[in-house]
Amino acid sequence: MVETVRAKLPVVVIGAGPVGLAAAAHLLERGLEPLVMEACERAGAAISSWGHVRLFSAWRYDVDAAARRLLEPTGWSEPDLDSLPTGAELVDGYVAPLAATPQIASRLRTGTRVLAVARDGADKTRSLGRDRRGYRVRTVDADGRVTDVLARAVIDASGTFSTSNPLGVSGLPAAGEVDAAPFVTGPLPDVLGADRDRFAGRHTLVVGMGHSAANTLLSLVELSEAAPGATITWAIRGGSARRLFGGGTDDELPARGLLGTRLKDAVDAGRLRLLTRVSIEQLVPGAESVQVLGTAKDEPLALDVHAIVNATGFRPDLGMLREVRLDLDPVVEAPSALAPLIDPNQHSCGTVPPHGEAVLSHPDDGFYLVGMKSYGRAPTFLLATGYEQVRSVAAALAGDRAAADAVELNLPATGVCSSDLALAAEGESSAVSCCGTAPAEPQLVTLGVGAPAGVGFASGVVHGRSGDGEDA
Ligand SMILES: Cc1cc2nc3c(=O)[nH]c(=O)nc-3n(C[C@H](O)[C@H](O)[C@H](O)COP(=O)(O)OP(=O)(O)OC[C@H]3O[C@@H](n4cnc5c(N)ncnc54)[C@H](O)[C@@H]3O)c2cc1C
Repeated sequence: MVETVRAKLPVVVIGAGPVGLAAAAHLLERGLEPLVMEACERAGAAISSWGHVRLFSAWRYDVDAAARRLLEPTGWSEPDLDSLPTGAELVDGYVAPLAATPQIASRLRTGTRVLAVARDGADKTRSLGRDRRGYRVRTVDADGRVTDVLARAVIDASGTFSTSNPLGVSGLPAAGEVDAAPFVTGPLPDVLGADRDRFAGRHTLVVGMGHSAANTLLSLVELSEAAPGATITWAIRGGSARRLFGGGTDDELPARGLLGTRLKDAVDAGRLRLLTRVSIEQLVPGAESVQVLGTAKDEPLALDVHAIVNATGFRPDLGMLREVRLDLDPVVEAPSALAPLIDPNQHSCGTVPPHGEAVLSHPDDGFYLVGMKSYGRAPTFLLATGYEQVRSVAAALAGDRAAADAVELNLPATGVCSSDLALAAEGESSAVSCCGTAPAEPQLVTLGVGAPAGVGFASGVVHGRSGDGEDA
């Protein structure tokens, strides 16, 4: 395919989550033609599956600027910027109206799952003329019809929510994990609502050490007050839960600080049992319950539980990208230049400087991972970070290098930092910040054009959501 033909093709955006839709809004502002492919029937599907959970970020951090410019003429009323939406409110009040704007709706294909992406006419090994070729995006619709769509560029904003890590400690499913699937839920079951009967008066094991685990544990504690007789066990891989108990009043996302504090109180009060250094080796499903076998602190562990909540974090689906030449970090599975900034082995607090197209590019030009998926296995992604990513990517695709490189972002700081995860795993004190001195207030960080060299990367002022995943 010659370059002139490639330039006439749409930019395919994979996923109609908040970041994919923001990408479409920015592309439209740049005069580029987006085509958004969404696997589910409605935009914001991943968020809807945890709709009962309240975000830590106030509305002011949840709405993209180009999306707002699309929404305003429709009579959309912006929610109170200082309030915290639930996932359902975020979808109903922002994602769904955005998807329904005429500009986006006419370019959105729901019920269309992307199966694979490749360079059109060139498999991964073929280099000759590769840069002139566009992309071939293979899709399947709800009726099983497979269709190929040609694209000048591809922005993969498909998130990671549908690919949980397994319960097995080595990153592989524990023996019997597949057969035990009926006993295992995702990280955020609606414990106090739709899924109540599954947990009331029963023994639940929650595995993982992120905020999803914390949310679910606190809901289980609340449920156990209304429906007595429940047992709650919390298993983590590390030696201490201190990082999750975390920043308390130092956290500039107060709801997040409060979550850790409440969880610590519940553990201290004996409302749930915390097991540390847990390794799950085998699941043996029975008729009513499942046996969990493994070790805790090197001693044999055997639990009989009615339900297991898998809150061990997520990993990106890279299978569909097998034909694309990617430059991914071997540890985090994020773009190589981004990975050192978000590697949970180095950054327990999730401090991430704003970044754009330059950090997100791959050997195959015109292909980008953005949003939650750009963070690979790192759990600290924030929407505002994703909105800045797609603003920069759209500028680069439109040929505006200066705008692509001028990265600006304003996010809240957090006190939830600890630099020494090895010590933390052993339950030793580690109060040293890995993020420099966190400023008291959010600050604007400018990178690239017009910014002094190095500004931002050492500042420690932009923070991610502290993790949903287990720590090491
Ligand atoms: C419980 C929870 C709380 C969070 N709280 C906050 C918060 O307070 N503040 C904050 O900033 N961030 C928060 N986040 C993090 C992050 O902002 C969200 O995960 C957000 O949904 C990421 O947006 P996204 O657009 O990248 O991906 P998603 O919202 O996951 O959207 C991806 C979309 O792609 C679709 N899709 C997947 N695979 C395919 C495919 N093959 N083909 C086509 N479509 C596909 C999915 O159906 C989905 O609609 C939270 C995350 C979780 C899980």
